[in-house]
Amino acid sequence: MSFDSDVPFVDPAGAGGVAGWRLEQSYAKLPESLYSTVGPTPVRSPRLMVLNCPLAMTLGLDADALAGEAGVQVLAGNRFPPASVPIAQAYAGHQYGNFVVLGDGRAVLLGEQITPGGERFDVQLKGSGPTPYSRRGDGRAALGPMLREYIISEAMHALGIPTTRSLAVVATGEDVWRQDGALPGAVLTRVAASHIRVGTFEWAASQRDEAALRALVDYTLRRHYPELVGADNPSLALLNAVIERQAALIAQWMLVGFLHGVMNTDNMALSGETIDYGPCAFMDAYDPATVFSSIDRHGRYAYMNQPRIAHWNLARFAETLLPLLHAEESVAVAQATEAINCFTSAYEAHWLAGMRRKLGLFGEEQGDAALVGSLLGWMQEVRADFTNTFAVLSPASAVDVPPFADAAFLSWHADWRARLGRQPQRAAESAQLRSANNPVVIPRNQQVEMALAAAVAGDLGVMERLLDVLARPYDHERVVASEYRQPATDGGAGYQTFCGT
Ligand code: AMP
Ligand code: MG
Repeated sequence: MSFDSDVPFVDPAGAGGVAGWRLEQSYAKLPESLYSTVGPTPVRSPRLMVLNCPLAMTLGLDADALAGEAGVQVLAGNRFPPASVPIAQAYAGHQYGNFVVLGDGRAVLLGEQITPGGERFDVQLKGSGPTPYSRRGDGRAALGPMLREYIISEAMHALGIPTTRSLAVVATGEDVWRQDGALPGAVLTRVAASHIRVGTFEWAASQRDEAALRALVDYTLRRHYPELVGADNPSLALLNAVIERQAALIAQWMLVGFLHGVMNTDNMALSGETIDYGPCAFMDAYDPATVFSSIDRHGRYAYMNQPRIAHWNLARFAETLLPLLHAEESVAVAQATEAINCFTSAYEAHWLAGMRRKLGLFGEEQGDAALVGSLLGWMQEVRADFTNTFAVLSPASAVDVPPFADAAFLSWHADWRARLGRQPQRAAESAQLRSANNPVVIPRNQQVEMALAAAVAGDLGVMERLLDVLARPYDHERVVASEYRQPATDGGAGYQTFCGT
């Protein structure tokens, strides 16, 4: 990546230490209002629960060294890796529509790991102790929610959806106190293209700090959109680029039935990665009104609302840029409005293109949107499982079993076969396209819960097997135990998730 940092690379331990750390901290070169220098708080007796060896390798880190005693001390926040300048980032955000000042209240950014390929990734410890932004929180995280983020984020990555990654979870040997009483504590090592959020810009804008805003625009462009550096109007270029990436991202969520659960503006990353896995979950039975989060009483973040909420969040982002867009406010507002108005059509185009891939359709026909709509309408009516319905269409398997042995479905199926029949030379390619876009396995809610319960009780095997299954979601040939493909008996209707604090 062509990002130049002004921070010299310092490596007191030599050669990045045994684990291969090669950290910089370019974020600390930004105006001081954007972060606080604070390290993790040591924990009593760290124990490695899970380590992501392939990710370690991508980062240029030695997995064996990370799993060793010194490595685990780093992953627990008890020891600094070489050249680390730990900081907590300042941000604000709209939570359920209300503006609040936030910041990393339970996380520190150790630095940016420079990979052997020259890429730059944030390495953050989550659950690492209090920071100046902790308010009344303890700065800690419970083991269950951190393992949950590990499982779901890695599943999203395997599904091909931009996401922060999980390098490791270390149990701290300390209890954290939550509503249900004492729970085992843990630290998650999160790896991200960056942790710059819509809320980061909202923080700078709320301070009326134009210099900080300008620095953030420049930094975000250099880090995530280097091709736009030097644009005539950098803020407008950034706004358009972020809108486009979010349109693509939300479409990808919708196409696999993913619910983020808490799409506050502080949980929207400008890199276009999915970030902050709290009460997220995958939908079983297709129902656009699906909500899992226990605190989302009005369904603000329901499945079908996700595109609309992304649009709303991006409007908040656009507002932060107004002072930079144009000296004249009315012109700035017109520019921002024009950009924001493009979101819906960009999203719909990504979504329909994705649905065509799921159905194996090449080219574009007028009737395609209606064909998709009528399938979804049927799925909603019979509460068909979202993942399994599309998976059945992938190799065009037998459709003579319930719920597919149904007149309405068979009539839709005939229409779909007719559409496929108009691209006869591409039958094999179409089947391939469907396989590559319709996962066989997703993190089924009951499987995730079972894996977490076993892990918290000391048995990591259930989670390890689940992670292995989730790592190859598009492998239609692989034989996996049927429980990994089974929706909950009630189609997931009664399932509830909780904020992972
Ligand atoms: P989240 O729900 O994880 O997106 O967090 C929302 C805000 O609450 C962020 O500013 C977090 O840093 C903060 N927060 C969440 N849990 C804690 C905690 N246990 N201690 C301190 N701050 C927290
Ligand atoms: Mg958050």
